[in-house]
Amino acid sequence: MPITQDTAVTIRYTVHELLPNGSALKLLDKGHTAYLHGGYENIFPKVESALEGKSVGDSVQLDLAVEDAFGPVDDSLKRTIPKGEFPPGVKVGGQLRGTNDRGEPQIYNVVKIKGPVVLLDGNHPLAGKALRFACTVTEVRAANSEEIAHRHVHGGHGHHH
Ligand code: ZN
Repeated sequence: MPITQDTAVTIRYTVHELLPNGSALKLLDKGHTAYLHGGYENIFPKVESALEGKSVGDSVQLDLAVEDAFGPVDDSLKRTIPKGEFPPGVKVGGQLRGTNDRGEPQIYNVVKIKGPVVLLDGNHPLAGKALRFACTVTEVRAANSEEIAHRHVHGGHGHHH
């Protein structure tokens, strides 16, 4: 069946960084993911548009500008905290729950411990990067009513809860 509104789609994907010189590409991520098709913001809108009408075995490849991927780096999401306030057991490469400048919950990545301070960054690790997104459709089925109510796909490469 083709990918249409309210289908549960599984893709095998690769994400490469598009370097400014356009020649070299660095592999950033690969794997499988499942998303609910039809404007649920489970996946980049440009990728979703490109997949409309495709079927199992079809492939698409797109170059995404920073704005069409994870967006520009937000410097207000970078902060430092004194080492003394740092919860024990959290290491560089780990994550910390906090709040951002607007008082909203925010996950911070622990970037570096530098002398008496810890550097945190709430940006997505791929923020600020232009990306080449390539994928092949591996499964398409009608979504069930629970998935549509939750606005995401369950089971397999989707959500488990
Ligand atoms: Zn759910």
